[in-house]
Amino acid sequence: MAKRDLSSKLFAAAREVIPGGVNSPVRAFRSVDGDPFFVQRARGCRIWDVDGNEMIDYVGTWGPAILGHAPSAVIDAVSHAAKEGVSFGIPNRHEVEIARMIRDFVPSVEKVRMVNSGTEATMTAIRLARGYTGRDKIIKFEGCYHGHVDSLLVAAGSGALTLGTPDSAGVPDDFASLTITLPYNRPEAVEEIFEKEGENIAAIILEPYPANAGLIFPNEGYLQFLREITEKFGTILIFDEVMTGFRVAKGGVQELVGITPDLTAMGKVIGGGLPVGAFGGKAEIMDHLAPDGPVYQAGTLSGNPLAMTAGITQLKELDRLNGWQRLEEIGQQFEDGVREALNEIGRDLTFNRVGSMFCLFFAEGKIENVEDVKNADFDAFRKFFWSALEKGVYFAPSQYEAGFISLAHATDDMAKTAEVTRKALKEIYS
Ligand SMILES: *Cc1c(COP(=O)(O)O)cnc(C)c1O
Repeated sequence: MAKRDLSSKLFAAAREVIPGGVNSPVRAFRSVDGDPFFVQRARGCRIWDVDGNEMIDYVGTWGPAILGHAPSAVIDAVSHAAKEGVSFGIPNRHEVEIARMIRDFVPSVEKVRMVNSGTEATMTAIRLARGYTGRDKIIKFEGCYHGHVDSLLVAAGSGALTLGTPDSAGVPDDFASLTITLPYNRPEAVEEIFEKEGENIAAIILEPYPANAGLIFPNEGYLQFLREITEKFGTILIFDEVMTGFRVAKGGVQELVGITPDLTAMGKVIGGGLPVGAFGGKAEIMDHLAPDGPVYQAGTLSGNPLAMTAGITQLKELDRLNGWQRLEEIGQQFEDGVREALNEIGRDLTFNRVGSMFCLFFAEGKIENVEDVKNADFDAFRKFFWSALEKGVYFAPSQYEAGFISLAHATDDMAKTAEVTRKALKEIYS
């Protein structure tokens, strides 16, 4: 076993002063029944823990590190910007530059506002949809994660007419009751609700490719169906592209599928590793925001010059390097390695990938929604996770998470990963 003494000590110290020892729950490694390691530094596709163990990283800070860790272009740009001042709270030129870039990259965006996290982006997109339509109810889908917004922490209560029940203590039932939760990839469930109360529904919010329940794809025509039914009833269609935006393509899933949502939530890659979120869409809707409109939203650090600079630089680098095409090539290499390993052990596990995002499900057959993921062999996943980590490859510590490849993952790294995957799978299935 790799030595993790210092990590263990730090985790014990952390638990005394931080709830659960972490500042975000998934980092606690609970779903793999273990303790997390503490990171010392990260560069390219590699991370080193405080005990000196080296790992190839497929978490990439949960998505943002699309160029790899600590890319010199971003570090240089942020260092330079810091010398001009780290925060102003006054309009700065970087805000205009990133807004223009987002408008040019993302098909549906005419105007955009910058915030500090994906959670803030979805929270405000929903407030704006409600303020714009004058309606209260929203629809979300089971297994889709939109940050820790009160009214979005609801995944249960799938029956079409059942009121939502909150997933978290501290969320009043009254809030949750305005959230209708439906199974993903089931158009008839959406149709049924709209027939009964389409006129009361402010918004449908979804991850167009759900990636917080593994990685799931919409069935043929499903996203088009959602676009049509929301248009018919004057409901706002919100794509949560916090994870997929600037990742699966320059313009996110909406570019790949050719569907234009009314509003889009963004985050992760857009911040180049600094805390950034954004939401944008049709100018007519966005103009309902304060100070022009009645929907209030604000932020002391929104549009922060360092964060904007990091985001701008990362997006420019991606564009300059033809990043999305390159990531598709690297992703294909990665997929070839995994499929070979699966063939060798004679297992037909479901492997989903789009560009540089992937998920190996310890389940067979098509995965259409989170109900299917629940049938996965979580024990096998847990064994796989620890075995791979022991061999120097860090995959996300939950079957419900997607993996991320970066431009810094080289052919050698991919070959090593394929080898580790083969060995880990063999240990489980032989
Ligand atoms: C990560 C994520 C969020 C939340 O973003 P934070 O920056 O963690 O608040 C929202 N939606 C999706 C799809 C995400 O993957």
